[in-house]
Amino acid sequence: KQQPGGEGGKKKETKLGLTASKGGDFGEWYSQVVVESEMISYYDVSGCYILRPYSFAIWDEIKNWFDARIKELGVQNAYFPLFITEDVLMTEKEHVEGFAPEVAWVTKSGSSELDRPIAIRPTSETVMYPYYAQWIRSHRDLPLRLNQWTNVVRWEFKHPTPFIRSREFLWQEGHTVFATKDEADTEVYQILDLYRRVYEELLAVPVCKGMKSSKEKFAGALYTTSVEAFIPTSGRGVQGATMFGIEFETEEKTRQHAWQNSWGLTTRTIGVMVMTHGDDKGVVIPPRVAQIQVVVIPIPNSKLGEEAVKAMLDRADAIAADLKAAGVRVTVDRRDNYTPGWKYNFWELRGVPLRLELGPRDMDSGVAMLARRDNGGKQSCAWGELGAAVPQLLEQIQADMYAKARAEFDSCIERVTSWDDFMAALGRNHMALAPWCDTEESEEEVKRRSATKDAMGAKTLCIPLEQPDLPEGTPCFVTGTPAKCWALWGRSY
Ligand code: AMP
Repeated sequence: KQQPGGEGGKKKETKLGLTASKGGDFGEWYSQVVVESEMISYYDVSGCYILRPYSFAIWDEIKNWFDARIKELGVQNAYFPLFITEDVLMTEKEHVEGFAPEVAWVTKSGSSELDRPIAIRPTSETVMYPYYAQWIRSHRDLPLRLNQWTNVVRWEFKHPTPFIRSREFLWQEGHTVFATKDEADTEVYQILDLYRRVYEELLAVPVCKGMKSSKEKFAGALYTTSVEAFIPTSGRGVQGATMFGIEFETEEKTRQHAWQNSWGLTTRTIGVMVMTHGDDKGVVIPPRVAQIQVVVIPIPNSKLGEEAVKAMLDRADAIAADLKAAGVRVTVDRRDNYTPGWKYNFWELRGVPLRLELGPRDMDSGVAMLARRDNGGKQSCAWGELGAAVPQLLEQIQADMYAKARAEFDSCIERVTSWDDFMAALGRNHMALAPWCDTEESEEEVKRRSATKDAMGAKTLCIPLEQPDLPEGTPCFVTGTPAKCWALWGRSY
């Protein structure tokens, strides 16, 4: 198979694209699509991936958007070191226990053993908190609201998956301190809503906001909230981002309490987007985060003279200039060693939201053909109207992609009240929303009882913030004791 744009540059055209289908072998489809679209290159350290410019551009969009929003809230960026001494790492015992098996250690420099091994941050609470304790002398120093954009390393033993679960990943981690619980709680819900908006408004991926169960909450946290996404094709939930609050005390003449939040959003976002929207032709990128929103493809045929070809290419450039002036990220595919059909496949594989075709007949009538990647829809548009029509059409594509994904997400939630219906929902690869007594033992029990020889057990994805009515005395679907809430359950990544 020829790698377009790669070594094969001038060789004869061969078939592009994927051999696995999304509905057939989802795992294989996903591995192919992230590589063939040039988002990821595999790397020789297992669980680590190269983010190529085509995916990094999406991370940049997320980062720019989110960074501007948290600065509006009064959060500042800073940078703390990658390395942690063993002593410092162990200071927050309960917190560290959650990570201990995944911490990577540096034990040598050159050929000499270090006296004390040094940890690579799996997250930065233990790096930052000692300095917070020095900087915060009294309540007058609060709130302290810092964020950093970094990499972290977690030597995960679960099967690694590009973007979704990698051993090194990029994220932002916000760590903030407030004088009152009210202020801290307010921030939790503000950030949670920004995470929802990253998924829903930028990536066109629907999520459910909720509270984590006590079994799933972050070690040492008072409570943990998250946004949860769902991949219908694999029937698995995926935790989109988390924030949690901790109460801590500083030792001073008078003992004081402060309230801390931690919140993180990672490059997992990109994987969830690919899994949600991709199809058998490749990835489908929502316009708002697409590095290239429109590709212009001139379609000269062999009957056209040199002059006419030049006029067509000039027109393509002029259209691109108009679109650029209208704020559209556009490129012209001028390569003359590929047929138009091959180029269509190439850009479809990359998920560019809109293709603009310019053929000989369009040249005669002063129009261009617009073809949507998301639903294959086509329409023609006069050259002079493109600057206004294309940005509108891109917004329409964004909205339609979200609406389609939202309808699918909603259709994957089954409201159940009995164990049998719960298992039936899982069997259909769906999530189950069920009345629950909210105990760790019953969650363990569900995990155990719902595991089959082909599928892992289910767990709570979250306790949705938006709760359906729960009439007094409704029994828990596992234990039969009075339910405390509706919980969303599913198999998950
Ligand atoms: P945590 O600090 O464990 O709460 O993680 C914060 C968020 O990072 C989670 O909600 C996940 O969305 C994401 N995440 C966790 N582990 C990984 C991983 N190995 N690779 C990519 N993203 C991850």
